[in-house]
Amino acid sequence: MQKYHSRLRQSVKHKLQTWFDQHQPVPKDEVELFLHALAAKARTVSLHCVGSDAVHCLKKVQNDTKQTWPVAELKQLLQPIISFAFSEQPALDQGQSGLEVAASHDDQVVLIADEDTSLLVDLKDYLTENKGYHVLVASSVKKALATFYDLKPDCLVTQIELKDELGHNLLTHLKPYLDNALIPTVVMSEDNSKQMRIRAYELGADDFLPKPVDREELAVRLERHLTKKKQLSSLLLTDELTGVYNRRFLQEAFRRLLAEHKRQKQPLCMVVLDVDHFKMVNDTYGHVMGDKVLQGLAQYLQEETRAYDVVARLGGEEFALLLPRTKLAGAMSLMNRILRGLSQKKFEHAGRNISLTFSAGVVEVDVNNESLAYWLEVCDQALYEAKQQGRARVVSVQNTRQEKNKQIKIAVVDDDPVMRTIVVDLLKKIERPNNFTLLIEGFEDGLTFLQSGWADKGDYHIVFLDGIMPKMDGLEVLYQLKKSQPGKRIMVIMLTGRKGAADIQRALELGADDYLTKPFKPIEILSRAKQIIQRVTE
Ligand code: GH3
Ligand code: MG
Ligand code: MG
Repeated sequence: MQKYHSRLRQSVKHKLQTWFDQHQPVPKDEVELFLHALAAKARTVSLHCVGSDAVHCLKKVQNDTKQTWPVAELKQLLQPIISFAFSEQPALDQGQSGLEVAASHDDQVVLIADEDTSLLVDLKDYLTENKGYHVLVASSVKKALATFYDLKPDCLVTQIELKDELGHNLLTHLKPYLDNALIPTVVMSEDNSKQMRIRAYELGADDFLPKPVDREELAVRLERHLTKKKQLSSLLLTDELTGVYNRRFLQEAFRRLLAEHKRQKQPLCMVVLDVDHFKMVNDTYGHVMGDKVLQGLAQYLQEETRAYDVVARLGGEEFALLLPRTKLAGAMSLMNRILRGLSQKKFEHAGRNISLTFSAGVVEVDVNNESLAYWLEVCDQALYEAKQQGRARVVSVQNTRQEKNKQIKIAVVDDDPVMRTIVVDLLKKIERPNNFTLLIEGFEDGLTFLQSGWADKGDYHIVFLDGIMPKMDGLEVLYQLKKSQPGKRIMVIMLTGRKGAADIQRALELGADDYLTKPFKPIEILSRAKQIIQRVTE
């Protein structure tokens, strides 16, 4: 449980910090939304003090006429929540303190559902204190379902009686999910008849324990089931609910694509997206519909991406995409297209239609950092930014490290010193595009130019090349340049004499991109250069 407490604390802290840092009043509905969600989450993880503080604050906000909350007043209002978020001490809570024991099973969550609350307390105490499980309890179907979806237990223990609401409803609702997610299900019953046992197994039970339940036996059986589940899960590569890849596969795929990215110098983008106001879908239409929507979304994401893209579910309503051979601009336009398409799509279930949006963070991965966790975190920050800006949008992270050092080199090769100096000086006035450096050089003849190794370094190359020069004429320089740098994109603009129609043709055959006929104005060179730079830096 401590894990959930600290997760909640972190997310609250993050939210408050953003509000306080922005120094701007916060809209009333945003504060309401936050407190509302906090109240629910805190209660789910048994932080009842924090939950009631949130409700208390919420009432104050609702009764206040202010439409925006200045930071100073917000701090005053949220005092109890601030002290929860920024205190390093684990929050002590009634019914919680003293019950948690760090033991070997503290990463395993067990949900027990039974109408008999004294049994719940008894089992919870025993399993927590002696076995160290995280035990969540619920005495109604509604509570059990909510806890199940919010906290994704590793195992379900539920009562079932001949006429009970709880066991039958719970099992009927959850059967597909329990089956898909391989969640062990243990059923307890007062009625130990063969009929009842068969009924329980038909509803999806993996195990049956007659009441009164022997706690020791329950513990041993749970341990068996959970060990098996762990082993099975470690073999799975797809997410049980949606059928897209899971986190484990994402890890593998990332390693493979990063290696390819390094080897082939192909770009690689990563996206994290989170459905907007998904809780509302669950609250309004129920979890079954929520699940259907997630399945529909996963399928849509797969349809809209290429076969070698990777779509994975990170958990809940959060998905990650790996887009190999895609630059940031491409990934942004893809995600915007997917978002537009999704918002026009209708998800249908039991005659009801709903539409969805998501918020997403996109980053282009570079080789300077190799961990998946790092890039997920970077995407998460952009995603958070997208939520802050109003949701239903895609935000990119400018990965400046990567683009900073890209160099555009321009050479002016002309034996006429006046012309060369004028052109070079003019080109030096071009404004450096963001994240690029511009290097402009003049060369007095072709041989010096070729021998300087000018084309060996840099990312983009542009040459203004005089056609007629002593020592080696322009066409010969062009020929040698193309031969010595096969496959490299070097833009060559020939500067030719008016009557050189045959020369122009030859130059184009040799791979020149363009030409200017003399006499030309130096300003023409400037505008050509600007055009090319604009295109390569877009
Ligand atoms: P935001 O726009 O800020 O993302 O709001 P939200 O409501 O989407 O976000 P929040 O994280 O508050 O709520 C996510 C909800 O998703 C909470 C949880 O009950 C639900 N959920 C998580 N996993 C599942 C699942 O597998 N199935 C269903 N139906 N619901 C799930
Ligand atoms: Mg979420
Ligand atoms: Mg969401």
